[in-house]
Formats: sequence, structure tokens, C-alpha cells
Amino acid sequence: MSTDADRDLEERDLRAELEDDAAGHRGIPVDAICTGCRQVRVKRVSSDAITHQPQADPISLEASDLTSFKHVCHRCQTATWWNPVAVLTGLVRSERGDDE
Ligand SMILES: [Zn+2]
Repeated sequence: MSTDADRDLEERDLRAELEDDAAGHRGIPVDAICTGCRQVRVKRVSSDAITHQPQADPISLEASDLTSFKHVCHRCQTATWWNPVAVLTGLVRSERGDDE
């Protein structure tokens, strides 16, 4: 029962994925694809991964503003490189309490 109209949510529960330890604990929620196994998962990226305007409001960012980042992949069972595919602005908004 998501209000995130920004994306086609398919059958995934993005909020549950974000709350999973595998997503990380700090940073901006994004959809990212593992370069090893090609699965797409919710991950948090730190502001270090923002290529420009690191002070920008996360909801104004595009996936193209983010660099690849290294994060553990449980399927690959190692730390792999992930490519951001979308900034999950709906989750950013709900985390800070201005959910529409
Ligand atoms: Zn993987």
C-alpha cells in the first residue's frame, strides 16, 4: 500500500528493502543494480557518491548525479559495485516526515 507514484513499484516492497540491514544505515535511498548479479535492490548511498552539488536536496537528484558505489551484495556474498538507477524520492520524503 504505497503512495510512491514516482515509479512502477511492481511487486517489490521498497520500504521493507530499505529497512533491511543490507540496504545500509545512512544515506539517500536509491534503487541500484549490482554489477555482479544484476539484481536491483534498495541501497543507501552516502553523499560521497553525489558527483555535483552534494548539498543539494536529495529529492532534486537524478540517478545520473550519482556515481557507482561499493556495497555488499548478499547474493554475490561479497562487496560489489552498484550502479544507481533511480533516486527513491518517495522514501526520502516519507523518512523526513513530509509524506504526501
Ligand atoms: Zn550481486
